[in-house]
Amino acid sequence: MSAEFKNEVFSSYNPNPVRLCDSCGEKPALVRTMLDSLSGRTVRMFKCKCGQQTWADNKE
Ligand SMILES: [Zn+2]
Repeated sequence: MSAEFKNEVFSSYNPNPVRLCDSCGEKPALVRTMLDSLSGRTVRMFKCKCGQQTWADNKE
């Protein structure tokens, strides 16, 4: 395995980066994961310690 190939793998292996909180810039904690049966996607809910809630789709 070449070094270039490793870099490619690592840079692409980040399926669901957590967005930082819009309000305070902290990293929100994952509080629950739900399967959306209509779209077949996993929806994750994050909640920051400041109270801000964020939803994220897992498009796989
Ligand atoms: Zn926050």
